[in-house]
Amino acid sequence: MPSGQLIVLTGPSGVGKGTLVRSLLARHNDLYLSISATTRSPRRGEIDGKDYYFVTRSQFKKMIDQGELLEWAEYANNCYGTPRFDIEKKLNSGIKVLLEIDVVGARNIKQTFPDALRIFVLPPSLEELERRLRGRDKDSQEAITCRLEQAKKELIASREFNHIIVNDNLSQSLQKFENIIFAIELN
Ligand code: 5GP
Repeated sequence: MPSGQLIVLTGPSGVGKGTLVRSLLARHNDLYLSISATTRSPRRGEIDGKDYYFVTRSQFKKMIDQGELLEWAEYANNCYGTPRFDIEKKLNSGIKVLLEIDVVGARNIKQTFPDALRIFVLPPSLEELERRLRGRDKDSQEAITCRLEQAKKELIASREFNHIIVNDNLSQSLQKFENIIFAIELN
């Protein structure tokens, strides 16, 4: 059985990673998207076990202590982590596994999975990122400010990644994302 591929998609909050991932999943049912654990409160419409596993800080700490997370990071005053349980199983069965995580988590994955395909999504500009963060109306004013500050630090890290997608136009970005992932099979 061939070994699967771990694909890490990162970039600042609001850049459109979620939309890219959802669009790609709609086209490829052989891809598996990992569901993260988080201490953040659910936003309107988010479902536990589908969007995230919503856990308390003490549950999250227990997951870390018991080695249940492949990686984790603190982002905008909340913790986020990738549960280990079925990722290794999926990879061993030859499945492509997608992680949509922050830059710190993506760096940590490089240590444990040096062969992971790591993709960074950039906004066309910081102004556009701010417009998207405000426009999606998901976060409080305070959370948006925190996410924008975080984004300024994250953008510098884009150079560390194998591939960069400037998310200006969704259909072009999706095409590039798809080419990056499925071109591997041609090698
Ligand atoms: P949000 O609160 O907007 O859903 O996510 C905030 C940030 O946390 C995003 O950049 C998202 O990609 C990242 N994130 C989501 N899940 C994980 C995870 O399991 N690990 C890490 N390191 N970051 C994550």
